[in-house]
Amino acid sequence: MNASTADPAVVRHDVPCIACGYNLRGLRADGTCPECGTAVQKAIDRQTGLFGDEQWIRRMIRGCSVMLFAPWLLILSPCLTASMYRHGLLSRVVSSDDIYAAILLTAPSVVGVIGVLMLTVPEPGASSGDGVTWRRLGRWVTPWGYAVALMALFDVPRLERAVNIIRDQVSLFAFIFGAICLAAYCRHIARRMNRAKLGEVMWVSTIVTGACAVGVSWLNLVQGRGGMTSFALVVLMVFTVLGLCYVYVLLAAFTVFLRAELERVAGRHA
Ligand SMILES: [Zn+2]
Repeated sequence: MNASTADPAVVRHDVPCIACGYNLRGLRADGTCPECGTAVQKAIDRQTGLFGDEQWIRRMIRGCSVMLFAPWLLILSPCLTASMYRHGLLSRVVSSDDIYAAILLTAPSVVGVIGVLMLTVPEPGASSGDGVTWRRLGRWVTPWGYAVALMALFDVPRLERAVNIIRDQVSLFAFIFGAICLAAYCRHIARRMNRAKLGEVMWVSTIVTGACAVGVSWLNLVQGRGGMTSFALVVLMVFTVLGLCYVYVLLAAFTVFLRAELERVAGRHA
């Protein structure tokens, strides 16, 4: 006979179900929630820091994929719109050059925001952890940053130069802050995947790239339009572009690791 009277397969402390919140204490780990039928193991994994919900990981992967696709629209959309022009489709739909420019410039941003909202979808049953705060911040700041930036396309009442500058700076800082929040959230997820180093590199790289972008914006502001391009400005611009490319590659690596994690989790729950 077993010396231990306690059955290790029974949940011995308060564990809320990831789907409905029902307390699973006293139930078997290989069983299901009596309220909604979700596997008890998923809630145990969630509480021990492991990923409990495969659907949630799938959503994050989809969000990353959409974010990775968004920059390509900058290249694709001129090609698409050019071919639409050739076939006489665009002239029927679009009358002014401003709207044409707006479609061209907003398409990648809108797709990017959709990707951010998909990546930052709340984890089922999550209640604590630093990831929650970064997730919320990134989820709110990024769309608002884009919204302010898009105002630049619709200057119906002619704005004062100072107002334009404030709007540009606010949107830039919101965009950079949003990116840093997202990087911090990715770092939190990476830690849970045992990829802490990737998370740290993502976070630091985003901060450095953001700082370079702020430097470019500040130097532009100081020199004004049509001013002499300084060496520092060129260096910062090069670093910003290289930084963005690097962060892009890191996001791609993060997506690959999420895919591997999904396979692992699906295998454990199978
Ligand atoms: Zn339940």
